Order: sequence, then C-alpha cells, then structure tokens
Amino acid sequence: MSQTKDTSFMDTIVSLCKRRGFVFQASEIYGGIGNTYDYGPLGVELKRRVKEAWWTRMVTLRDDIVGLDSAIIQNPKTWETSGHVSGFTDPMVDCKKCKGRFRADKIEDARCPERPSKKPGECGGELTEARAFNLMFKTHVGAAEDSSSIAYLRPETAQGIFLNFKNVLESSRVKPPFGIAQIGKSFRNEITPGNFVFRTREFEQAEMEFFIPPAQNEQWYKHWVAERASWYSDFGIDPAKLRLREHAADELAHYSTGCTDVEYEYPFGWGELEGIACRTDFDLKRHSEASGKDLRYFDQETKEKYFPWVIEPAAGIDRAALTFLIDAYDEEEVEGEKRVVLHFHPEIAPITVGIFPLVKKEGMPEKAAEIERMLRTSRLRTYYDESAAIGRRYRRQDEIGTPFCVTVDGDTMKDDVVTIRHRDTMVQEKLKVAEIEGWIANAMRSWKRPAR
Ligand code: ATP
Repeated sequence: MSQTKDTSFMDTIVSLCKRRGFVFQASEIYGGIGNTYDYGPLGVELKRRVKEAWWTRMVTLRDDIVGLDSAIIQNPKTWETSGHVSGFTDPMVDCKKCKGRFRADKIEDARCPERPSKKPGECGGELTEARAFNLMFKTHVGAAEDSSSIAYLRPETAQGIFLNFKNVLESSRVKPPFGIAQIGKSFRNEITPGNFVFRTREFEQAEMEFFIPPAQNEQWYKHWVAERASWYSDFGIDPAKLRLREHAADELAHYSTGCTDVEYEYPFGWGELEGIACRTDFDLKRHSEASGKDLRYFDQETKEKYFPWVIEPAAGIDRAALTFLIDAYDEEEVEGEKRVVLHFHPEIAPITVGIFPLVKKEGMPEKAAEIERMLRTSRLRTYYDESAAIGRRYRRQDEIGTPFCVTVDGDTMKDDVVTIRHRDTMVQEKLKVAEIEGWIANAMRSWKRPAR
C-alpha cells in the first residue's frame, strides 16, 4: 500500500469511520465525553459480524460450550470477593500545573494535555506520587443514595459466569471440561486516552470460562491460546501482524499459572487484542467461601468433589472490530485514481452485496430492486445504489469493504444475466440471476486474504 501505517494512519481510519458511518464521537453535539464512542449504521453491522464470528466458533460449532447473558449490575459482594474493589486499580499520577492525569505505568506513551508535543511534567508542572485509582464505576441501586446502596457497573463479564456456574451445571447437560461464553458490555473508568476505540470507558467483551479437571490445565491452556490466535487469522487478519506474548512470572496474578496475550501491531505499536489466562480455581473457591454455597463439581464416575480449574480467553469486541478495520485498509492506484478499499473477510464485511442498475431507465431500477429483495430475503446484507457513474458506485462499496457488487444492465433485461464484481480482484463475471446466491456462498467460503 502507498500509505505507511504510522500514527497519521489512525487519523485516516478515524475520518473514514466518521464519513461512512462506522463510528462517531459520543455526545458529539455537546463536545463529546472522554473515551466514549457511538457506532453508526455500518459500525453496528461490523460489530454484529465480529460477535457472530466469535459466537459461531465458540458456541454454535462446539458441543462443549454454552452461552450466558448475566446482569451488568450484580450484588456488590461479587466485586469484593473477586478482588476488584480492593485491587482493580491503575497507578495514577497528576500534574499539579495542568491537572493532567496519567497512568504511572504508561507515562512513556502519554502526552501533556496542555502541550501535546511534550511528555507529562514537561509543561513545567510537578507530578504527584503514584496512587491507586479504582477503575470501577460506582452507582446506587434503589432510592437511597448512601453507602448501603453502592453498586458497581461490571468491569468484566467473567464474574457473572462464575456466579452462574452452579445454575448452568444443574440446568444444562454439561460436565468438565466445558465452557460458558458471554458477550456483553463492561465498564472501566480508564485514565489514559485510548487510541480511538482501542481503549474506551464502555466496551463489549467476549469472554469464555472453560472449566476443567485440574490435571488437564496444560493441555487446555495450549489449546485455547492456539485456537484464539488462529481465529483472528482465519477471519483475515495478517498473520505477520499477530504475535503471542507470554506473561513473565512477575506479571501474573498471584493465583494464575499462565497468561498469554494475542497482540497486534497497531499503527501506534504492539497492543493486546485478547488475553488467555489460566485462573486456576481461584474464582469458584472465593465465591464459594464468601457466599457459603458449595460451588464444587461432583464427578459421578470418580465420586470426587472438586473445584474445576478455569482457562479464560477474554477478547474485546470493539478492539477486534478496530483491528479488522485497520488490517483491512488499503489504498492503491487504479486507472490514475486512488482506490480506498477495505479487504474485510466476507463474513466480517458490514454489507455483503451492493446492487446497482447500470442506468436509471429501461426497467433496470425495478429489476435491480427485485434482485435486492431476493437477496435480502436470503438474509444477505444488501445495499441498493442508483446514483452516480457505475465506477463511483463500485468505489463507494470498496471503501466500506463490500465484497461483491451486482450490476443490472441491458443483458439482464434481455437474458436475465447480471455482472458480478469481486472487490479484491475487481474482476467482473456474467451470470444468471438464479446463480447469484450460489456464487456468493461459494465466494464467501473460498475467500483468501489478498496478497498486498
Ligand atoms: P489493557 O492491558 O489493554 O488495559 P486488560 O489486560 O486490562 O487490557 P482484560 O481485562 O484482559 O484487559 O480484558 C480482556 C480484553 O478486553 C482485552 O484484551 C481487550 O480486548 C478488551 N478491553 C479491556 N479493556 C478495554 C477498554 N478499556 N476498551 C476496549 N477494550 C478493552
């Protein structure tokens, strides 16, 4: 590609997202609110595809994982027991002059809010000592606003899964090794600004807790690290920009025996996409002790009662969506003009097929609308466009990553033959209207990331 993927590349992505309706600044008309974004029509579709791709692979295609949708506000004892009330903190420092707030452990990457070309403290201000800042959002439940009514917005979805371990065990035909998967919003009062939707204050997580007999720890940990890394490349992410980073012993939580991050090389450097951690039996044991409810599993065959160990792949949907966008972006010169194209995997693309009448007469718009209805009914996401020259219409779809476009022309009116164009190769083929669906299904199955 002609443009280097440096930090100005992020500006290109942000502006594309706004122009084409992927992502908007939240509360924009009031000047926004820090680290918070809204998803527009195409962004919503993109996120739905990412979630669907995760859910299909993690739940639908497996017989050992079931789903859950737990509440965002749980009994606050949940977060005392999990350690979040006392320990879910980032070390924070303040600048006494410009009042900027920074994460002490990320100070190297931070910028002074008053003088963005400078580092924290270089505005002449003195930085305070680091102090622990809890990332959980507090709220009050019920009419009283006193300390007895304090509750928290969940900072992760995982704890809801542990709370429901016994419910799922007793209501579903599952036994270790098995998993419970959940996608939902989490909230963190992040201190550092976030590189667009990479780090936001509310975000969607996709987490799965895989409950296993302790002796199978090593085997399942390896399985989930490999499986989660390949999920990203299977959906089109450049494998050369993915790496696994195993946490050093001093980075691990005291209860954890291993943690590996799947990282991606963003324009702003390598960053975590997802973490796969072995949480041992820490959570179930703690909740068992604190609630007085026995959360052990009774193995009918061995007559043994034990706390299963847990392997947790924890991904971020917003971060994944951003990664798919960044990774798909390309610019090239075609016939003397710049072509911007998002090479999304067809399963990830917000729109699957664009449908155009070549001209706005001779019955072509009606025929194109009829084909669009047919494809829509087959649950394909379609986009009808009859304005501007055909080349312009192709470019508009390229820019939002639509993998296929169907054009209705004179041949369609005569012989029921349309032109179908592939986004990646720009190759056009003629085929019968009745063959469109089969052709698209086949092209989706056999899609390969184009070499760039
Ligand atoms: P980081 O080190 O980037 O703060 P983390 O290690 O705290 O992330 P986890 O608690 O392991 O993250 O959460 C799992 C996943 O949830 C992350 O890999 C990321 O994809 C996503 N995630 C976490 N925090 C945020 C956030 N503030 N905004 C967007 N996604 C997030």
